[in-house]
Amino acid sequence: MLWADKIRVVKPYVPGEQSKNQNIIKLNANENPYPPSPEVKKAISEFDFDTLKKYPDANSMELKSALAENYNIKTENVFVGNGSDDVLALAFMSFFNSNKPILFPDITYSFYPVWCSLFNIPYENPALDDNFRIVLKDYEKENGGIIIPNPNAPTGIGENLSFIEELLQKNQDVIVIIDEAYVDFGCESAIPLIEKYNNLVVVQTFSKSRSLAGLRVGAAFASKELISILEAVKNSYNSYTLDSLALVGATASVKDKKYFEETIKKIINTRENAVCEFKKLGFKTYESKTNFLLVSHEKIHAKDIFLKLKEKDIFVRYFNSKRIDNCLRITIGTDEEMDKLFSALKEILA
Ligand code: PMP
Repeated sequence: MLWADKIRVVKPYVPGEQSKNQNIIKLNANENPYPPSPEVKKAISEFDFDTLKKYPDANSMELKSALAENYNIKTENVFVGNGSDDVLALAFMSFFNSNKPILFPDITYSFYPVWCSLFNIPYENPALDDNFRIVLKDYEKENGGIIIPNPNAPTGIGENLSFIEELLQKNQDVIVIIDEAYVDFGCESAIPLIEKYNNLVVVQTFSKSRSLAGLRVGAAFASKELISILEAVKNSYNSYTLDSLALVGATASVKDKKYFEETIKKIINTRENAVCEFKKLGFKTYESKTNFLLVSHEKIHAKDIFLKLKEKDIFVRYFNSKRIDNCLRITIGTDEEMDKLFSALKEILA
């Protein structure tokens, strides 16, 4: 291995485990248990197959227009990519180029430190408080940029817009990214603030509330200046991040507002019922504004519950990391899936 000192060695992000077994109850990757809008199916099945011989629209104009209309902004304020991981990676590359550390919470999306190490970005992790809330004053020191998910993951806890605005007020000379992967499940989006703060980037995904994790679509919303920087970086790396089928499917999804709202309502309902069930079984839950719950049990260790659930073909997420190593992150499934989860938990606890 004479080349060993010439290659890049990275420690990659580890996503929730996937399984070939169709019979498992999969509550470990915050996927939506409901199918995408029937309009997505229609758009993709009516897609003119022959046009696959051509490159897709590198500018994704139809999808940008649908998103701009949906949020009452201009297409120049919209960027799209191959899932929000792609959008976030490009945003890290584009906006975090300082020698000063960027800031994100100690308990958060575990991909952030991976991008920092990939792009050589220094970072610091202010600790969440004992109730897993973000402490605003920790973000008032000098920094090279900020990224926080709102709601946060894997805590599920969301902050209101005045919190986000205060964060922006205190950080006007750096880029602030708000990762809104789960915002549709009960938080207010910061998109309306992009007009007032030209240093704000809001990132969203089609993987959760739109049931399109497999199609790989994400978006960013920001001032015209920041969007054109993202476009330039993307076009210096890979111009065609979204394929033709993803473009028509995602556009159809944005246009079907009724299905989107109905699906979210069902998941929030199931989540609130699940909170009661968990409490009855002696679990502590954190207030969630997402499609998952972070829970811990007063008597049995999270890892034991995780392994026992797995034996019963129910997959949830266990993180072997500081401060949350006695917690489980459980995605909200259908009512039927949650009933099975609670029956299994009752057996395990007995
Ligand atoms: N941000 C957060 C906070 C997430 O939990 C996820 C899902 N793993 C993503 C971004 C990325 O989602 P996707 O790439 O599927 O859009």
